[in-house]
Amino acid sequence: MKACVNCGLISEEDVKECPRCSSSEFTEKYSDMLIVINADESEIARNLGITGIGQYALKMR
Ligand SMILES: [Zn+2]
Repeated sequence: MKACVNCGLISEEDVKECPRCSSSEFTEKYSDMLIVINADESEIARNLGITGIGQYALKMR
């Protein structure tokens, strides 16, 4: 699993382009992960500007 450098969305290794922001820059160096199931009701997601369902990396290096 790797994380989009731009928006933090975590994707499978074979993904070439971030499905959320179309960035092609990824990193495998992240230390925390946030799983968003319901972005509308998640205060953490709201604080991070996350609006969609998915797994997001936190603390990317
Ligand atoms: Zn992205």
